[in-house]
Amino acid sequence: MKRTAHTLDAALRQLEAAQLRRARTTIEAFPMPGDRALVRVGGRTLIDFSSNDYLGLARHPALTHAMRESATLAGAGTGASHLVSGHGLEHERLEEELAAFTQRERALLFSTGYMANLAVMSALAGRGERALLDRLSHASLLDGALLAGATLKRYPHADAVAAAELIDKHPERTAVIATDGLFSMDGDLAPLGDLSRAARAAQAWLVVDDAHGLGVLGAHGRGTLELLELGSDDVPVLMGTLGKAFGSFGAFVAGKGELIEYLVQKARPYIYTTALPQPVAAASRAALKVSQAEGWRRERLRTLIERFRSHARQMQLPVGASHTPIQPVVLGSEAAVLEASQELESRGFWVVAIRPPTVPRGSARLRVTLSAAHTEAQVDRLVEALAVCCRRLAGKPAA
Ligand code: PMP
Repeated sequence: MKRTAHTLDAALRQLEAAQLRRARTTIEAFPMPGDRALVRVGGRTLIDFSSNDYLGLARHPALTHAMRESATLAGAGTGASHLVSGHGLEHERLEEELAAFTQRERALLFSTGYMANLAVMSALAGRGERALLDRLSHASLLDGALLAGATLKRYPHADAVAAAELIDKHPERTAVIATDGLFSMDGDLAPLGDLSRAARAAQAWLVVDDAHGLGVLGAHGRGTLELLELGSDDVPVLMGTLGKAFGSFGAFVAGKGELIEYLVQKARPYIYTTALPQPVAAASRAALKVSQAEGWRRERLRTLIERFRSHARQMQLPVGASHTPIQPVVLGSEAAVLEASQELESRGFWVVAIRPPTVPRGSARLRVTLSAAHTEAQVDRLVEALAVCCRRLAGKPAA
């Protein structure tokens, strides 16, 4: 049936009725220059527990200074795609530095992680070939497989045995296995060692989207692979984003020279789009340096994660097994999670309600994200507020 203005309106009303309509919230200001976790929203100051700025770098002076300097030299926009006349020195250097950081031959910059995943999946999986994805993989990996015209198969979350069984059915037609390294809504890790063995046996590409692990996990912040002691032979295609722990914007794919050159030549989401502004690339370069020089940020984050978890357990909050900055508090229904999010906001905390289709039906959640920019006191106060919300939802008197 063709969509008319009337059917669009009806669909929107349906979303509203199901408590699934989303709304944007405008950040009006960052009120305290010294406190990077505070935001002004709706005229009120809230502590932001919803951002992916895990290391607290987004407003770091080294990044903003690098942006200003680069803008003075190179201007705001690049004016063309990388293969026409938009590729600049900041891009070139950032790619070299990202290759060195990820210990790979080459890295290729993309405007966003969404586009990087579209590029990789559509370049490596052919029409009619199979692409295997973890059921909870990011939407952009899935969309990339669809763009490729590949036959999409999804295995149960983090189940490498099920993935291997699926591969065994048609190893010759299995082109790509793709997964998040650190899952964005659950905070858990993919079984990359086992997936790598299965992929190798079938001569399939293993693509790991480590948007949330890079910068955060491992002693040097090299992400899920560093934590699991895996290298580029185990995971030949690594995707990372620059808009989360690195506090900037953009993304990259890192791998062997021929992989990257193939993407340059063939990947449409790389070829047919304007190059990222150079000041943004300059900010990412600064972020990479700061994240290496200031390893205490990762340490601090780890301390805050364990503090949150131990207090939450004491308060009998439904926290999962995640030891990463992503700490989901699964409440189940859309109504419960919306109510809890609103209550938290009234108490000065910004914790966004995550609902289907971002997470499976029945698992609506508060997605608490911790950052090195938070203080111990802010984390403690959040746990207390969460406990009040959960008691209220359970129908018990709020202490
Ligand atoms: N992969 C994952 C796992 C993500 O969480 C995101 C961002 N939500 C992306 C890819 C897309 O990255 P970007 O925001 O740079 O488009």
